[in-house]
Amino acid sequence: MNLHEEQALPGLQALGLTTAAEHLESAAQQAAAGNWSYRRFLGHLLEGERSARHKKTVALNLQFARFPVLKRLEQFDCAAQPSADPRLIDELATGRYLSEARNVVFLGPPGVGKTHLAIALGVRCAEQGNRVYFTSVSELARRLGKAMSENRLHCEMNNYTRPKLLIIDEVGYLQLEPAHASLLFQVIAQRYQVGGSIILTSNKPFDEWAGVFAGDPVMASAALDRLLHKATVITLKGDSYRMLERKKAGIAPIKTSSTKDSPPTTRI
Ligand code: ADP
Ligand code: MG
Repeated sequence: MNLHEEQALPGLQALGLTTAAEHLESAAQQAAAGNWSYRRFLGHLLEGERSARHKKTVALNLQFARFPVLKRLEQFDCAAQPSADPRLIDELATGRYLSEARNVVFLGPPGVGKTHLAIALGVRCAEQGNRVYFTSVSELARRLGKAMSENRLHCEMNNYTRPKLLIIDEVGYLQLEPAHASLLFQVIAQRYQVGGSIILTSNKPFDEWAGVFAGDPVMASAALDRLLHKATVITLKGDSYRMLERKKAGIAPIKTSSTKDSPPTTRI
């Protein structure tokens, strides 16, 4: 082995190309046996490095996101939810909305697939190499409220403002108290300012959002103004998917009061 050959391994290690370093010997043997060109050999080594790094990034992104459960777009049965236009979902899956700083809002009654689609788009975003953070609105309010009382609001706020995508689930199930409503407003306003996308799910149509924001219509409309300035709003309708599954399995459905008809899907 001459001096130059001996330098290859420490050179790759010094540059932090650990996967390429690990595979150097076997790749060199493969290349010799297959009579590869220099370019092919280098390409093979670098592709191995790139793909290992990407896998690591995705695994970290998925861990950081704190999804309550993993859902994928491929698991979403579009036939069971005709109000989710598959072309629109496919377009969102490209992640273009992230570079356009566009928000996505899923509205509709319980069980129609809002959280499923929000998580699935979040998983796609993580797989595209981006940081995502998932939270229910009550968890967001609780954590920010606690941080505020402990004088570390600025630091906690970073969790919500820095990721490429923030998913806020279950807006509207509970009315927030004034201090918490103001914290949710701050998150929406700060993400708007930095151009970071939000995916939000809610069971409440927008005209009932004053109730979400502690009965404050001015704060609700200021929040909606920012949220909907550039947004794709998808209104899901129909029966709860869980109920449909129960029906299919021959189990009696659980009786609930009927939900109000939702407005049609709109794109803003
Ligand atoms: P929501 O957030 O609207 O209350 P979820 O997204 O939590 O509803 O859906 C309830 C359950 O039903 C989840 O387990 C979800 O994966 C499943 N589900 C809902 N809609 C569909 C669908 N169209 N295809 C496949 N699974 C669905
Ligand atoms: Mg949900």
